[in-house]
Amino acid sequence: MNDSQPSPISRTLTSETTDVAVAGAGIVGLAFALALSEGGSSIAVIAPHAKSKTVNAAATEPLETRVYALSPATRRFLEDLRIWHQLDAGRIGVATDMRVFGRDGTWSELHFGAYQSGAQALAFMVGHNALVGALKSALGFQKNVRFVRGTVTGLEVSTDGVVVHGDGFGLKAKLAVGADGIDSAVREAAGITSKEKSLGATGFVANFAIELPHHDCAYQWFSDEGIIALLPLPGRRVSLVWSAPEALAADLANRSPVEFASRLAPYAGKALGTLSPVSEVSSFALRRLSVGHWVKPGVALVGDAAHVIHPLAGQGLNLGLDDARVLAEILSARGPQRSLGELRLLRSFERRRKEAVMTMATATDALNLLFGRPSGMLAPLAGLGMAALNRMPPLKNQLIGHALQNAAFGF
Ligand SMILES: Cc1cc2nc3c(=O)[nH]c(=O)nc-3n(C[C@H](O)[C@H](O)[C@H](O)COP(=O)(O)OP(=O)(O)OC[C@H]3O[C@@H](n4cnc5c(N)ncnc54)[C@H](O)[C@@H]3O)c2cc1C
Repeated sequence: MNDSQPSPISRTLTSETTDVAVAGAGIVGLAFALALSEGGSSIAVIAPHAKSKTVNAAATEPLETRVYALSPATRRFLEDLRIWHQLDAGRIGVATDMRVFGRDGTWSELHFGAYQSGAQALAFMVGHNALVGALKSALGFQKNVRFVRGTVTGLEVSTDGVVVHGDGFGLKAKLAVGADGIDSAVREAAGITSKEKSLGATGFVANFAIELPHHDCAYQWFSDEGIIALLPLPGRRVSLVWSAPEALAADLANRSPVEFASRLAPYAGKALGTLSPVSEVSSFALRRLSVGHWVKPGVALVGDAAHVIHPLAGQGLNLGLDDARVLAEILSARGPQRSLGELRLLRSFERRRKEAVMTMATATDALNLLFGRPSGMLAPLAGLGMAALNRMPPLKNQLIGHALQNAAFGF
């Protein structure tokens, strides 16, 4: 539990004003700023590194390892923002099928197909830098958006707005939006309490070339070695997301990409043939976070600042982008009498998003508990559950439909 007292404020000049100050230029913060900018509000995006990145990497550059599985709903949002078509289609992976496996011999296989649910695809795999670059380029054309280089260190909330303090700047705004990730300084400074726990696992990501075509199928294995997903990238390439329990993670941390490839062979070999590394391996400590309130007068949280869930279902960014979409929509549709930082307005955002996020977080926790490390009494239940689910197309289709509506499915 974090301290509920506002953190100390660094005193700086507060001569600059803006309608909305967005802390954090991650994908969620940038997408929110772009979505809101259409309405004409002045927006300041505060980021430690405010420089733009190139939109599209050269075709010869290797695909980046920080890859997100984005849902069709997220794609529609990015299309509305005119971002999707800025991305290099040749560097986007598509998953039209997904195969999920349990422990050898004890679980059956679960198969999800987009076409049987009337959808074009289950998910699209897009690189982090490609998304950030496209969003920053688009924001460069918005005259009402500017970037402030710096790090937020404190907030001062009063009846006529909020002053956002940082290293070397002070900014007066009607609304401060915390899009500053899991360790959100805005959340801390606003005195919004959070509950956090380690998931006792580390996430490893890397890209591999494969011997056999993946046919746009994503694979996921729930095993004693954690949860392993291989997501289809363009051509004969896959992106690995391996959530490994701590004891194994300590060992994997010292392994080379080639050793990772041979560790994956028992899982992927049959379907994908030999794996050869085409990138380094990166790792992320997996944490889970929830907050009691997402908003206070003059303050709102979006993305990982408000919620962090297990990556096994590949939902975190999809949920964060939906926060960005809904908050921008509510603020843009407010009447002329209503202030951007008005609590009732912000509460309507919280109400619209909180339940969807809680549902997804609970479902993900349940999947992790039931299928992620089933032991003792839960093991037969998990096997039964997966086998039964596979034999119930209406239920399975319902699950896919829900996931396609709300976020990416699987991973
Ligand atoms: C292994 C792994 C795999 C994942 N795979 C998927 C997936 O396939 N699909 C999916 O939807 N999600 C996935 N996720 C979740 C996803 O990575 C996050 O939900 C998403 O990146 C959150 O974006 P954000 O913009 O909210 O936060 P961040 O990406 O953390 O961005 C926060 C930004 O704020 C800046 N910042 C921090 N502090 C300050 C400050 N004080 N002042 C100013 N700026 C600040 C940071 O520099 C950063 O740029 C995965 C997560 C993990 C760990």
